[in-house]
Amino acid sequence: MTSFNLELRGYVSNKETFEFHLDADYINSIEQTEVRGGSVDVTLTMTRKSEDLFALDMVCAGQLTVGCDRCLDDMTLPVNTQYQVTVKMQGEEFDDSTDGVLVVPEGLTRLDVGPLMRDTVLLSIPLVHSHPEGQCNPQMSQLLESMIVDSDESREPEQEPATDPRWDALRELKD
Ligand SMILES: [Zn+2]
Repeated sequence: MTSFNLELRGYVSNKETFEFHLDADYINSIEQTEVRGGSVDVTLTMTRKSEDLFALDMVCAGQLTVGCDRCLDDMTLPVNTQYQVTVKMQGEEFDDSTDGVLVVPEGLTRLDVGPLMRDTVLLSIPLVHSHPEGQCNPQMSQLLESMIVDSDESREPEQEPATDPRWDALRELKD
């Protein structure tokens, strides 16, 4: 598996900038996702705050190919996101339970920032994504419409008819 290692020791300057590139193979190598293709450039700036404290600033730009929610065809999503995290070297274990802070073991010399970049990119995918109205694959849309009961409609409570049609029929007979 590809790793994107940052050397945590031995920096002479306070600020270093790195360029990384993520593709779908890497994104899916940790765990299979809905990403079908893509190319994202990550500019990562590492700022040393003190001997055991770093700030990482990631700027991710590129695009991903995912499936459209409506027609399931490929669609392209732009990726334009960023994420900041403080890396603290402390104790003996990794701990990412605090938002925006990543605790790494004190003796760590290298940090694989791949998973951080991957999660940042994945979080940029909107929960609902589909082609612009009218641009779905027409064949697929037709096929799906005939196969799938629209989930919105199926959630609606059943409308009770205003009157029982059997009584209506009886009333008509009476009249
Ligand atoms: Zn579509």
